[in-house]
Amino acid sequence: MEERTASPLISVADARARVLALCAPLPREEAPVDSAVGRALVEPVLAARTVPPWESSAMDGYAVRSAETSAPGARLAVVETIFAGQTPQRSLGPGECARIMTGAPLPQGADAVVMQEKVRREGDQVVLEEAAPPRQHVRARGEDAREGELLLPAGAALGIPEAGLLWGQGLSRVPVPRRPKVAVLSTGDELCTFDQAIPGKLVDTNGPALSLAAKRVGAVVTNLGIARDSLEDVLQRLQPSLGFDAVITSAGVSVGERDFVKDALAELGVEMDFWRVAVKPGKPLAVGRKARTVFFGLPGNPTSSLVSFELFVRPALRRLMGHQQVEPSLVPGRLEVPLSKPPGLVHYVRATAHFHDGELRARPLASQSSGALQSAAGATHLIELPAEGTKFAAGDRVTLLPVSWSG
Ligand code: AMP
Ligand code: MG
Repeated sequence: MEERTASPLISVADARARVLALCAPLPREEAPVDSAVGRALVEPVLAARTVPPWESSAMDGYAVRSAETSAPGARLAVVETIFAGQTPQRSLGPGECARIMTGAPLPQGADAVVMQEKVRREGDQVVLEEAAPPRQHVRARGEDAREGELLLPAGAALGIPEAGLLWGQGLSRVPVPRRPKVAVLSTGDELCTFDQAIPGKLVDTNGPALSLAAKRVGAVVTNLGIARDSLEDVLQRLQPSLGFDAVITSAGVSVGERDFVKDALAELGVEMDFWRVAVKPGKPLAVGRKARTVFFGLPGNPTSSLVSFELFVRPALRRLMGHQQVEPSLVPGRLEVPLSKPPGLVHYVRATAHFHDGELRARPLASQSSGALQSAAGATHLIELPAEGTKFAAGDRVTLLPVSWSG
């Protein structure tokens, strides 16, 4: 067989930009709020209700007329007790206050709350230890939402507080892109499934690992199994591909004589966008599209495939789910030990990071063999070493990328 020639390398930033250019938010659906968490709103949501609907107390204490509290040792008559869930029965007149609990509506006439720790109770009266400025410990009406006004803008990433705001409106469904349908295919003659334990075979860990990684981002995943290292088998396994939004294969994408993934994709009519990125681990990475399906041919080495997932597939899936912020969130840190590497490729060194003296200190895992999962197990961050750099001293500033696959 003719030896395969390698195509030029593109940078991680270019590769990610090209991946994202292939991905647009998926068609919308009205999803239950809890299931919409992890996706982004397709259109703005306006508040149908004012929340909270009344001014309420932010403390357990006494509702007062602030102007009457300025004299030292002011004495007020307690005319009512208001618990959360109750409606005040009367408004406060001059010289009056009301015992009030957190969350209870303020009575008419009251404009401040004094914490119970700041008063002396004497029978039906209280003596104030300090003045209460207007609005003190008062939770404003409409702090969370005002009827008819914007609650959350289009594009808002839905997390748990956002879900709370939506539930607070009594909304059960919101418009978000539907979840990406993702297919995962492992390739390799050496592989068997984890429940097969065939002597002389290696368990396919990439298939379940990449499936889980995609599920964690929010995709609905179908496992297409393990393809043998033949063009026919890879092709046959990829037949259902076009029914998916993204297809993730692992292995068989390098320059080996039995690496058939790229040939199979070409045969399927996938238009390749790029192959090979200037990164270690994860240099062989084939990305292309046919119709609305994006194909990711990830490398076979288990840790390489996870790093590629983090750098390219996760951002793509987030974009399909409508997110605007899809790039990995980088954080600054310092190296704890010296590192060196040849020039040319950006390295992502699997590491643990801990907070010390006001900054993150990153320590590489002992194993950096991308063929071994031990070079990812326990890692919380990737240390990004720039392509041109070769020597890095202990204490050097570095960029860290928190990994989404850590436990
Ligand atoms: P390849 O890209 O096909 O040359 O595979 C590179 C390395 O990754 C080989 O050592 C494979 O055995 C290993 N590998 C490939 N696919 C998987 C998989 N699904 N699970 C675990 N290891 C794999
Ligand atoms: Mg192989």
